[in-house]
Amino acid sequence: MKSAEVIIIGGGIVGSSIAYHLTEAGVRDIVVLERETHQGKGSTGKSMGGVRAQFSTPISIRMSLYSIPFFDTFDEVMGHPSGYRPQGYLFVATDPRHMAYLQENYHRQIEAGLKTVQLLCPEDVRRIAPEIRSDDVIGGSFCSTDGFVDPHSVMTGFMQKAMERGAQLMRETEVTGIQVDGQGVCGVETSKGTISGRVVVNAAGAWAGQVGQLAGIDLPVEPLRRMLVPTEPFEKVSHESPMVVDMSTGFHYRPEGRGLLLAWNDPEETPGFKTNFDRAFIEKVLTRGVNRLPVLEEAEVNPKRAWAGLYEMTPDHFPVIGPVKSLPGLFLANGFSGHGVMHSPATGRIVADLITQGHSDMVDVEALALERFAEGRLLHETAVL
Ligand SMILES: Cc1cc2nc3c(=O)[nH]c(=O)nc-3n(C[C@H](O)[C@H](O)[C@H](O)COP(=O)(O)OP(=O)(O)OC[C@H]3O[C@@H](n4cnc5c(N)ncnc54)[C@H](O)[C@@H]3O)c2cc1C
Repeated sequence: MKSAEVIIIGGGIVGSSIAYHLTEAGVRDIVVLERETHQGKGSTGKSMGGVRAQFSTPISIRMSLYSIPFFDTFDEVMGHPSGYRPQGYLFVATDPRHMAYLQENYHRQIEAGLKTVQLLCPEDVRRIAPEIRSDDVIGGSFCSTDGFVDPHSVMTGFMQKAMERGAQLMRETEVTGIQVDGQGVCGVETSKGTISGRVVVNAAGAWAGQVGQLAGIDLPVEPLRRMLVPTEPFEKVSHESPMVVDMSTGFHYRPEGRGLLLAWNDPEETPGFKTNFDRAFIEKVLTRGVNRLPVLEEAEVNPKRAWAGLYEMTPDHFPVIGPVKSLPGLFLANGFSGHGVMHSPATGRIVADLITQGHSDMVDVEALALERFAEGRLLHETAVL
């Protein structure tokens, strides 16, 4: 029977970052278990790759303040590209309530130590995104170090570095059981046999709830479909454009390849493991898109290139990170509610610190604990796209 000091379930960007950060802390005997034939087939390979520090709560902002500089030096440190492009996130407000919200968030971001965010007047918004319709714009906010990464490349960089240092990745290995004895977790059962170990990390993305059940843990993480629509090559919007978020509808876009990537959070979407792309979404996203970005009228969209993936939602849109108090040895890194790529470096660091030192200096991990749901200590991150 095989054994490992740390067993990580899930080889997406989060499991890979945890593996890397553990090796940074000197742990070498790590096995990452991925049921697919290759990494990235979960949410990581479907992501829009947006990274931002413009959040509404100190915890999310602090996680970004670790993660974004990490992406900035990723290529040098990992010897592998992160694809980080600091083109910014521009939030566009047309409603005084939204502007007040941005102002409130701005003060929290500055207080937390973010230096690259600014509040904007309508002229500033027009300068940064000249392509949008701005007659009704009353202001916005912009952070120049926000931007995008290549999620697949970041995941691969993390895992390669971890493997160079001794971590092992087992593909086509599904975890089917979690073993427990009188002391706590003592191993996992997989499609390739049993692996014993006293530390098991659930990094199973949208499937984290199912993995939790294997250990008898009720983990409130629900899969929720999100769809993205790329345009064909399109020159009418600058390739240097930031991610632009129209707060009046939630429509957002960013440059991708030679075209644009269009997104919108459909409030009618219901939870479930749905990963088929619904063609009716194209009209929905384009209607909102053309309203804010009229030149989109001239863009072409090929439905065959559009895709769907899963967000991993928690009731308060905050991740669940840390040990399970009722089951020693089981750690969670789940429920990123659409922010798992941008917060993967911070998550890896927090989980590695918790495993190796029992505490984290970055955030108040008690606030992110699973027990918050039963104890009614819900947080609320409202800056969710
Ligand atoms: C359309 C879309 C757009 C998004 N845009 C952004 C964005 O702009 N910015 C951002 O930060 N985030 C974004 N996200 C969210 C982000 O993609 C996720 O939060 C992130 O990828 C989660 O990473 P993960 O490693 O936890 O999960 P995953 O990448 O899903 O990895 C989990 C892995 O666990 C494996 N697994 C599951 N069960 C088992 C088992 N029993 N045994 C073995 N392996 C198992 C799965 O096969 C999978 O590979 C987006 C998501 C979608 C769908």
